[in-house]
Amino acid sequence: MSCFALVPAAGSGSRMGAATPKQYLDLLGRPLIWHTIRALCAVPEIKQVFVVISPGDEWWESFDWSAFERLCVLRCGGATRAESVMNGLMAMSDEVDDWVLVHDAARPCLAPNLVSAMIAELQNDAVGGILAIPVADTLKRAALGDRIERTEARDGLWQAQTPQMFRHTELLAALSSRIGPDVTDEASAIEKQGLSPQLVMGSSWNLKVTYPQDLQLAALILQCMDWE
Ligand code: C5P
Repeated sequence: MSCFALVPAAGSGSRMGAATPKQYLDLLGRPLIWHTIRALCAVPEIKQVFVVISPGDEWWESFDWSAFERLCVLRCGGATRAESVMNGLMAMSDEVDDWVLVHDAARPCLAPNLVSAMIAELQNDAVGGILAIPVADTLKRAALGDRIERTEARDGLWQAQTPQMFRHTELLAALSSRIGPDVTDEASAIEKQGLSPQLVMGSSWNLKVTYPQDLQLAALILQCMDWE
């Protein structure tokens, strides 16, 4: 068994409303993605961490990445997340033969031991799987004017997180054949192949930094984690 990580980091982060793409926003004195890479590099089962940035990225070179020996940068980001992942999978295909864990650059509070547990649970699985957490809040379907149309049952609903762990060949085939706007994560491409990925319990700390206030929350979580 061998495992590799792939971090799509070619987004512009428009929902943050900042000129700098969100993966480079400051988080405790480092770019946000630095924390994400540190977490993946701290997982002993992961052989190499590939980061996909956009071909025109002007920020990457201005930071120091020398702390991470197993890091490899690929300048092949695409117009969508799925395209960035697909391009990354193609670029890494000479070296990668088995499992790929795709993880959002924007999830810097990933706990390495959660990833090790996920790998242990899925390494002999026929399909693969994702970290996710059961939906905690009551869900409302909105009608016109943001009035509530109805309450949706939340039984059996999970929020997908990353990493999402699939075999390199299968994931590349799935993304190549069924890429569409509804493919917002790797699992949805695999599901379209008629396969059923495993849900592995994630953590609410593994949040995706999307809006400005998420950055403060991520800083608090990182300070609570046992890094130093
Ligand atoms: O925008 P969102 O938070 O959903 O992006 C999830 C991840 O996908 C981020 O790490 C972002 O950098 C990445 N992405 C990408 N290429 C794109 C769009 C998003 O690598 N074209």
